[in-house]
Amino acid sequence: LRIALGVLIGFGILLVGVWFFSAMSRTRGGSTASEEPEEVADLDVYFVCGECGTEFRVERIGDLQVPRHCGEKMQVERRGPSSAGS
Ligand SMILES: [Zn+2]
Repeated sequence: LRIALGVLIGFGILLVGVWFFSAMSRTRGGSTASEEPEEVADLDVYFVCGECGTEFRVERIGDLQVPRHCGEKMQVERRGPSSAGS
C-alpha cells in the first residue's frame, strides 16, 4: 500500500508539474527563456460585485475608481501577492 501511495503521489506531482508548465507556456505565448516577473504580481486589488460576485482585477492603482455593477458600487478587495512557489 505504501508503494502504491508513493507512486500515486509521484504521479500526481508529475501531473501538476506538467499542467503548471503547460499553463505557464500557454500564457507566455511560447517565448523561450524569458524570466520577467509579472507586472502586477505585487499588486492584487480586485473589485468584487456583492450582488453577483463578479470580480475585476485592478491593474493600475493610479486612478482608482470604483465601478458599478448590478446597480451598486463594487467592493474593493485587496489580496496579498499570490505566493506561488515555495
Ligand atoms: Zn454584479
